[in-house]
Amino acid sequence: MLPFNLHRPTAIDSIQSTLAGATDPKFLAGGMTLLPSMKLGLIAPTDLIDFTALPGIAEISSKDRTVTIGAAATHAAVARDSTVGNLCPALGRLAGKIGDRHVRNRGTIGGSVANNDPAADYPAAILALGATIRTDKREMAAEDFFLGIFETALEEHELITSFEFETPEQAAYAKFPHPASGYALAGVFICRTGSSVRVAVTGAGSEGAFRLTELEALLEEDFSAETADRVDLSSFDFFEDRNGSRAYRENLVRVMARRAISEIAGKNAA
Ligand SMILES: Cc1cc2nc3c(=O)[nH]c(=O)nc-3n(C[C@H](O)[C@H](O)[C@H](O)COP(=O)(O)OP(=O)(O)OC[C@H]3O[C@@H](n4cnc5c(N)ncnc54)[C@H](O)[C@@H]3O)c2cc1C
Repeated sequence: MLPFNLHRPTAIDSIQSTLAGATDPKFLAGGMTLLPSMKLGLIAPTDLIDFTALPGIAEISSKDRTVTIGAAATHAAVARDSTVGNLCPALGRLAGKIGDRHVRNRGTIGGSVANNDPAADYPAAILALGATIRTDKREMAAEDFFLGIFETALEEHELITSFEFETPEQAAYAKFPHPASGYALAGVFICRTGSSVRVAVTGAGSEGAFRLTELEALLEEDFSAETADRVDLSSFDFFEDRNGSRAYRENLVRVMARRAISEIAGKNAA
């Protein structure tokens, strides 16, 4: 790893001047992706800006049924947080199943979403919850944020500060994890509020996480596990790699959808 300057600002206003004085700066959150990339020589930033000491950046709060999660909240913090546990336990369970204990204690929701790994768990939740992504410059809807594998609408040096979402009446996440890393080979997050249903898939799509609007429409008519068998997935571009064929991933998405639907409907999943 090449030498770099480490900055740890405690006020958001000082970030712009730090960025301006650096040749090739990068934000550092948990470092779970960034540091291995530096060690492998894939990237060599001149300056790392560890923003995790900014006031409130790791806070989790709620007002009425709106939940706000700071970008630097670790997966472990989200998993054990009582606000998340009371208002959206599916999100807490998702966080508690990311990677291993070390990754959960360092990795952050903001780092995960900014990185937009196609097998990461949070993007499915952010899409299904219809979350708003706040940055130091603006707010974005989840739909406008994820642009493709490892690609987001973030501009250069734009910092995610928090996520906000309305609590769904019911939600569930089912994932089939890679046995070594815990990353999703397929993960399906489903939210249900009144007659409205939102479904998002991660791990399986060759363009990264996506909403499965066809299944949403079918579930709004008939919220049952069998409905997942009726959705036509043939037009979707699923990954094909050494971990699984296209057909395997298509089947996994269906099975994970059945499990999430069954959990919400209070039945044992197939
Ligand atoms: C062994 C292992 C297993 C894992 N298993 C899983 C898993 O099962 N499921 C899963 O979803 N993930 C998994 N991960 C990913 C992990 O959970 C982290 O979310 C991910 O590595 C990035 O988060 P981080 O906070 O460490 O970000 P960093 O590594 O610090 O940063 C990653 C990138 O995002 C940028 N960035 C970070 N925060 C922000 C921000 N607030 N605004 C703008 N840009 C930002 C950084 O500049 C960098 O480019 C795993 C990782 C490892 C190493």
